[in-house]
Amino acid sequence: MEALPSYSAHANGSSMASTLVRTTGPTTEERLAGEDHAEIRYFTSYDHHGIHEEMLKDEVRTRSYRDAIYQNKHIFKDKVVLDVGCGTGILSMFAARAGARHVIGVDMSSIIDKAKEIVAANGMSNVITLLQGKMEEVEMPLQHMPGGKVDIIVSEWMGYFLLYESMLDTVLYARDKYLTAGGKIFPDKATIYMAAIEDGEYKDDKIGFWDNVYGFNFSPMKESALTEPLVDTVEIKALVTDPCPVLTLDLNTVTPADLAFRVPFSLRAQRNDFIHALIAWFDIEFTACHKPIRFSTGPHTKYTHWKQTVFYLREVLTVEEGETLYGELENKPNSRNKRDLDIKIAYELDCSDTSREAKGRCAYRMC
Ligand code: SAH
Repeated sequence: MEALPSYSAHANGSSMASTLVRTTGPTTEERLAGEDHAEIRYFTSYDHHGIHEEMLKDEVRTRSYRDAIYQNKHIFKDKVVLDVGCGTGILSMFAARAGARHVIGVDMSSIIDKAKEIVAANGMSNVITLLQGKMEEVEMPLQHMPGGKVDIIVSEWMGYFLLYESMLDTVLYARDKYLTAGGKIFPDKATIYMAAIEDGEYKDDKIGFWDNVYGFNFSPMKESALTEPLVDTVEIKALVTDPCPVLTLDLNTVTPADLAFRVPFSLRAQRNDFIHALIAWFDIEFTACHKPIRFSTGPHTKYTHWKQTVFYLREVLTVEEGETLYGELENKPNSRNKRDLDIKIAYELDCSDTSREAKGRCAYRMC
């Protein structure tokens, strides 16, 4: 899952997008009447086919889900499966093809109209029930849910920096309300990693650019560049330090309160270099599989649409091989818009050369 800034813009610039995909029912905006703008913007961004095309074409993502489901037919056989945020219905169809007795797919966005057509086109309408609505509000088809429960939850809820968009809250809601005791979640483990990078473009292009734009001081623009994390692909050769796992979430036990956190990191320099930014990425695991399946969105592996998240620092650090940059990463959902994140990074470089010692705090807003 992701609502790319560009696609949000797409979908927003477009009440048009929702008009275009309108089939029979009310539009997403009409269904969300009374909700705040951010919620409407979030769900309408998923009305458009482009965002689903990008997710489906992300092979690392979609194949990992397919492998996790197809290689575990013994787990899915005759089970009731809930697909939280089913989009075009791809995960529901994987589960049905793997032998599920019944699959329930829920999505607020009007893309679900397409999902219904797709499921019918593949002759699976009798096994898959698709419902448009918010997972938190929808009336579930209890006739397919013995004891009102499901055996397995599948969901692709991950946003940029793992937690942007806060869809994990929705999966946890579904887990607590509908997953049977001992039920399984696909995937069920996520780990956030950090590392420090050297970015040759920091001075002339990314941050320093704003100091002199055609002879003018554009420093107010620099502030945005320093406070908004940048979602971009980072080349492996830019990494100056070892990666450091900073947080692991076990979806079987994590609570919404755990998604606001402050965790330490330590990044050991692999070479003499400058540090212009810290980056974060995440790995995902399906540990409920017979043989665990995992994928990474890191800079060392194949491209995914999540890319990496770059946090530029306000100063350039100079490190020597073997030195360690210590710090803390803090994250919490923004109090006014819970889908935005307030992220803080504190760091300290303690080295024998006092002229290079550094200590700082940077605050970012992911919106
Ligand atoms: N499962 C699909 C789509 C993933 S994108 C796939 O793997 O391709 C995430 C989807 O979750 C979006 O279509 C979005 O509309 C939906 N979604 C997010 N939060 C939701 C909620 N609270 N209730 C219902 N649907 C939600």
